[in-house]
Amino acid sequence: MGCLFCEIIGGKTPAHFVYEDSTHVAIMDIYPIHRGHTLVIPRIHHEKILDMTTQSVSELFTRVLPIARGVIEATNADGFNIGQNNGRAANQIIPHVHVHVIPRYSQVGVAWPKRSIADEKDLEELAAKIRRCIKSA
Ligand code: ZN
Repeated sequence: MGCLFCEIIGGKTPAHFVYEDSTHVAIMDIYPIHRGHTLVIPRIHHEKILDMTTQSVSELFTRVLPIARGVIEATNADGFNIGQNNGRAANQIIPHVHVHVIPRYSQVGVAWPKRSIADEKDLEELAAKIRRCIKSA
C-alpha cells in the first residue's frame, strides 16, 4: 500500500511545501483544523513515533520550533497546538509519523471545529508567506 507522505516527499504527489531540508519537510494540511495548519514530516517512513529512535524524534522536534514560529508569524495566530497522533484510535489518518502545528485564533474559540478542505489559492499564498517567515525565524 502506498504512503501519501512518501509520495509527496518523493515528488509524486503535489503539496504546498513550507520547509524542506535533507531529512525533513513541512507542508500545509489540505484539511486544516484552522488556517495555517502545517505538518512537519521526517523523510524516512516510520508509522508511529514508537518506531523511531530517541535521536530521530529529537531531530523531528528540533524542526518543529522554527516552523511553528514561522507559521505563527505568518498567520498572526493568538496561540497554537502541537499534536502528534499514533494509531487509528488516536485519529492518526496517514500512517507516517508527522507533527501537527495548528494555529489558534481567539475569536474562533477553543473548541475543535470540524476539518474542512482549504481554498487552494489561499493555501498557496499562505504557504509562500510561511516559507518567508520560516527563513527569517
Ligand atoms: Zn511514508
